[in-house]
Parts: sequence; C-alpha cells; structure tokens
Amino acid sequence: MRILVVEDEPRIAADLRDGLEQAGYAVDLAGDGETACYQAEIENYDALVLDLGLPRLDGLSVLRRLRQQGNAVPVLILTARDGWRERVEGIDAGADDYLPKPFRMEELLARLRAILRRVSGQATPILGACGVELDTRTRAVTVDGRAIALTLLEYRLLSYLLHHRGRVVPPGELLDHLYDSGTDRETNAIEALLTRLRRKLGVKLIETRRGHGYVIAA
Ligand code: CA
Repeated sequence: MRILVVEDEPRIAADLRDGLEQAGYAVDLAGDGETACYQAEIENYDALVLDLGLPRLDGLSVLRRLRQQGNAVPVLILTARDGWRERVEGIDAGADDYLPKPFRMEELLARLRAILRRVSGQATPILGACGVELDTRTRAVTVDGRAIALTLLEYRLLSYLLHHRGRVVPPGELLDHLYDSGTDRETNAIEALLTRLRRKLGVKLIETRRGHGYVIAA
C-alpha cells in the first residue's frame, strides 16, 4: 500500500513518513497543494493524508479538485483541534475521515487501516486466505497459526493482494503500490518476490493468470 502525505511542516512530515514506513507503507511526500494535486494525478495512491493548511493551494481546494477530476482516492484530513467547521467542510468535500492535530501516530494508523479495509470491503484488521493470516495492526503473518517472517516488500505484496482479494492484479499495478517514487521499479522484481512468498506461504495462495496478473482467490 502506498500513501501520499501532504504536509508543509517538515518535522510533522518526517514523523508521518517514519511512522507510515514502520507500519509497512510506501510513502511519498508533498509539501504544498499544487504538488499534491500533480502527484495524485500522475501516481496511484491507496490513500492521502492531507493537511488542510498548505502553501500554494489549501487542502480543501486540493480535495475538491481531486473529486472534480473523478479521483476517488481515500483521503484522511488533518485538521485543527477545535476546527469543527473545517471538519464538516472537509468531509462534505469528499474526505473519508479526519484527525485533529496534534495526533498520536497510533490513531492515525488505525484510522488509515479502517479507511483501507472499508475501500476493499473488509470488516476486520486481520486479512486471510488459505490458512494464511495477515494482521494489519502488527504486520504479523501466520500460516496455520505458525509465525512467518516476511521482508517489507514481501509484506507489501501480500497485503496488497489480500486487500484486493478476488481481483486479478496486473504486475504494473503492483509496482505502483509497492514502491515509493524514489525507488526504481522493475517488473522482474515482482516475479522474484512472488517466488519467495510462495516458498514461505505455500504455492496455492497466490495464483498466476498468465498475461493478466496475480490473484488471491475470494
Ligand atoms: Ca500546515
């Protein structure tokens, strides 16, 4: 899963990036509203964390512009503690949830998990199939109850396919959602990751549909 963080305060942006990366997400940063619109247009994100007070173009305008363009990417807005009016405006402009500043990283991560699982039609933070379980709160993965150690990229791949269970995901889409924009992306890397995942989790979980992509059966 790949997140765009839109925040002009460098310290908060760095904390957000660290916290999200530790939780397993690929993260890109944008420091102003115009850059955020551009990034959201050219890249595919699983969600945006959007501060409302931004230089060049404020967060509400960013949100309205995205929705006008038909971009339905989930958005979590960061608002002022006592700013109930801007929260109402933000939600009505198409935000999926909000978090008042200052916030705890744990709460931001929980709200993000909830947004991402709502989008993919999941009801609980534990995703699973074929005896494999992935706990999105702790990044723990088990096979028939036995703990399995995954690398960060293996975890991202498994998490993405489980969030999109039942849908064949093309390799290009996986590249978009597993890597941040500072990382070189090669389709070969996906094949290698899948081989390693199958070795760890069993060959049945992830099916290859030749010429189309990969799927975890619903
Ligand atoms: Ca700000």
